[in-house]
Amino acid sequence: MSITFATMSHHCTGTVTSAIEAYSPRDGLAHGSLDATAYVCPNHVQPARAMWEEQGLTPYTAKAGKGSTPCGSITDFREATASTEA
Ligand SMILES: [Zn+2]
Repeated sequence: MSITFATMSHHCTGTVTSAIEAYSPRDGLAHGSLDATAYVCPNHVQPARAMWEEQGLTPYTAKAGKGSTPCGSITDFREATASTEA
């Protein structure tokens, strides 16, 4: 299992409140596969959604859990083969 950590191009010290999940279709479902998540503050929800749409993924805005993740952090699961539990 492989997870890639990356960051968006912006620099921001805002408090992360949202996890922008990126899904690709699988088995006929638009949200069939969770491919990546970007953690952002309220100001960067739209850029994060646009980023996933540009990559052909379907964005879904979820609430981020409490943590110290900086705005713009990306966790990318796309190399992983197994599905992870919710
Ligand atoms: Zn931000």
